[in-house]
Amino acid sequence: MLKSEYLQHVYTQVVTRDPDQREFHQAVLEVLESLDLIVDQHPEYEKHGIIETFVEPERMISFRVPWVDDNGQVHVNRGYRIQFSSAIGPYKGGLRFHPTVNLSILKFLGFEQILKNSLTGLPMGGAKGGADFDPKGKSDAEVMRFCQSFMTELNRHIGQFVDVPAGDIGVGGREIGYMFGQYRRIRGSYDAGVLTGKGLSFGGSLVRTEATGYGLCYLTAEMLKAMKGESFDGKTVVISGSGNVAIFATEKAAQLGGKVVALSDSNGYIHDPNGVNLDVVKDIKLGRRGRIKEYVDAVPGSTYTEGFRGIWNVPCDVALPCATQNEIDEEIAKTIVKNGAIAVAEGANMPCRPEAIRVFQEAGLLFAPAKAANAGGVATSGLEMSQNSMRYAWPFEEVDRRLKDIMTTIFHNAYNASVECGVPGDLVVGANIAGFKKVADVMLAQGLI
Ligand code: GLU
Repeated sequence: MLKSEYLQHVYTQVVTRDPDQREFHQAVLEVLESLDLIVDQHPEYEKHGIIETFVEPERMISFRVPWVDDNGQVHVNRGYRIQFSSAIGPYKGGLRFHPTVNLSILKFLGFEQILKNSLTGLPMGGAKGGADFDPKGKSDAEVMRFCQSFMTELNRHIGQFVDVPAGDIGVGGREIGYMFGQYRRIRGSYDAGVLTGKGLSFGGSLVRTEATGYGLCYLTAEMLKAMKGESFDGKTVVISGSGNVAIFATEKAAQLGGKVVALSDSNGYIHDPNGVNLDVVKDIKLGRRGRIKEYVDAVPGSTYTEGFRGIWNVPCDVALPCATQNEIDEEIAKTIVKNGAIAVAEGANMPCRPEAIRVFQEAGLLFAPAKAANAGGVATSGLEMSQNSMRYAWPFEEVDRRLKDIMTTIFHNAYNASVECGVPGDLVVGANIAGFKKVADVMLAQGLI
């Protein structure tokens, strides 16, 4: 129950309108709980209907995506783009290709994206899209045909000043390449800034591939330093997932002196007490699109266990969940606490359930929520857009330096907001408030739209 009647009314409306959208309700409630601490000081929010406007997407697009597999059989998937908010810039956010994709998941992701993008300090609105297509086991040609069909519809809704998609789960450099090619063919115009995460030879930015994982570690390092006088040096780290975010979080955590001892995929996890050999992981996951269990064939002394949640039984100092939403429930959170962790930072979007976050916070662990901790990906997408507009490409060190600055600033802005709200160190509240205030001010300035 929210303290503010106004917020409770907004929440009730969200739930009654779309009773089945549980992930979306979860994301909205968390933000409203934070706003509950400040809404009394801001009567203008209720007066101008800011919060009921904020929780309703500006536009939701749904379309069919027909494609033909290698055997000549026709399949029809459902594609979406949720254009949630364009208050502070063109809609911006990734595309997810995964069988679980539905409106609830994309609305929660799009909603989170508004606040995340606001926290980066760059002029980007919030959006998310994707399809219930499973790229697993598909040939390159099938993925290409799917991407072309998807973009054949999506192209009319996007543009460098309108909406700029990028990758998410199931959408990486290969898919962005195919979609960019189709966009260019249909529009007959080289709008490099229409997608981010492009290949380096056609407008992509250095560091974009590494950015979410690197940024996660930069923010975690700053949090450890500022709040505990600690660093990654000598720490044992467990990272769930083994996709793009997990791989580059592993790389940066190791560069900063941490030892990453476990990684997972949707089937199970590997444990390597000597610290995972990243070259082997990259070869399996990025080179061959294989499964994480192949790791044990290459690295003696490592073990593989079926069941992806078991990874959280491996003791660690720092836990970086980088797989997908709602992976960590209350019970797993208690195990992580019992095993002595000092910090948790979310690399995936909403990997911790609200009860799990409560367990971490009550036990005094440092906790960095996704919208702050994984903002490095979209921040570097923002830097890619800047470079596209300039028709120029910065060197790796320049982009990396900017990414690090952005992540450090996000941590301090969220921390300072938590102090101002009377809950020092609660970065869930801090990130929500710091992200929201900027968007709300712009909504007030631009009038009811
Ligand atoms: N999908 C990423 C995210 O969740 C990146 C989005 C982007 O670069 O636009 O933030």
